[in-house]
Amino acid sequence: MNIALIAHDKKKKNLIDFVTAYQNIFKEHQLFATGTTGKLIQKETGLTIYRFQSGPLGGDQQIGAKIANDEMDMIIFFRDPLTAQPHEPDVSALLRLCDVYKVPLATNQASAEIMVRGLQNGWLDWRSIKDKREIYDD
Ligand code: PGA
Repeated sequence: MNIALIAHDKKKKNLIDFVTAYQNIFKEHQLFATGTTGKLIQKETGLTIYRFQSGPLGGDQQIGAKIANDEMDMIIFFRDPLTAQPHEPDVSALLRLCDVYKVPLATNQASAEIMVRGLQNGWLDWRSIKDKREIYDD
């Protein structure tokens, strides 16, 4: 599965701890991230992560493009709901595309836990079977 990892600044430590805790699961997948998030996770965990631009410099949009190309299977985006972001329109666009393409999205640790455990249990295997995705077509 292709998994994107993103965290706003005040949530980066939270995401690093999360990925560290579930490293054994994440290492079985292709990981992508916005620039700074990816750099920090890579440094702390040693996982291989493809890094896009930093979020405010277009990284969220680059991940959005992957979603629109059907090249992302899961997004874990630890958002900071209490701080205004200069690239809020990009953030909204990314979340919107997850809904457009029905890509599983977790925006906080509680939902990310469920998604990662689901990933481990094979509940997202349908993502790799193209025909099955049509079940979710409107
Ligand atoms: P960053 O971007 O990982 O480059 O900090 C995340 C974001 O703010 O969208």
